[in-house]
Amino acid sequence: MNKQALYGKKKVRIRKINDYSIKCENCGQYHQVFTIDQSCFHVFGIPFIPLGKKAIRCACAFCNDSFNTKKKEDYLLEARTPLFMFSGLILALGLIFLVIYFNQKNQRQTAEYIQEPMVGDVYLIKDDQTEKQRYYFFKLVKIRTDSLFLLHSYLEYDKRVTEMQENDYFVLEDTLFTIQSDLIKMHAEGEIDAVERYYHEKSRFHIEK
Ligand SMILES: [Zn+2]
Repeated sequence: MNKQALYGKKKVRIRKINDYSIKCENCGQYHQVFTIDQSCFHVFGIPFIPLGKKAIRCACAFCNDSFNTKKKEDYLLEARTPLFMFSGLILALGLIFLVIYFNQKNQRQTAEYIQEPMVGDVYLIKDDQTEKQRYYFFKLVKIRTDSLFLLHSYLEYDKRVTEMQENDYFVLEDTLFTIQSDLIKMHAEGEIDAVERYYHEKSRFHIEK
């Protein structure tokens, strides 16, 4: 496929007007066809945004003779750029809003999980106290009033992950202890990057040894 077919400039017919009130100077019939075109930037043929001015043409439906300059100007003046010329832009904005919406929803949910922790919750910890950023997991295994007992993952990661690597698991012999207000503080400071609750039954988050 060539580049032009993927994106670029193309001419779009934005309006066609049949006028039966004007007599053709050439053949005497009453049917003039006015067409208005405008260029646009397209992606996969979907108009993104109009480019340049509208152009109008007029032709007699019978003899193809073109005249009527005055009427052409009138029609051109009243022709608005139709909304479909912005289809791609509207689509792209829609997608952006969707992403923002789900992102916010996700953030709200994470905040809820932090406020009301449940046994089994897995926290992705972002540790940037040392020079090199590290990620690892904590798993909440016991709640006693305000106290939270956590297991940590065997591995640490140098980039953000959402799942455990093939040989990772939670280490049973080493339980950490924290209080809920610290958990809230960690989240507020960005140290807790994500919370997983309803993870898949085959997830490695279940593995403790
Ligand atoms: Zn004619």
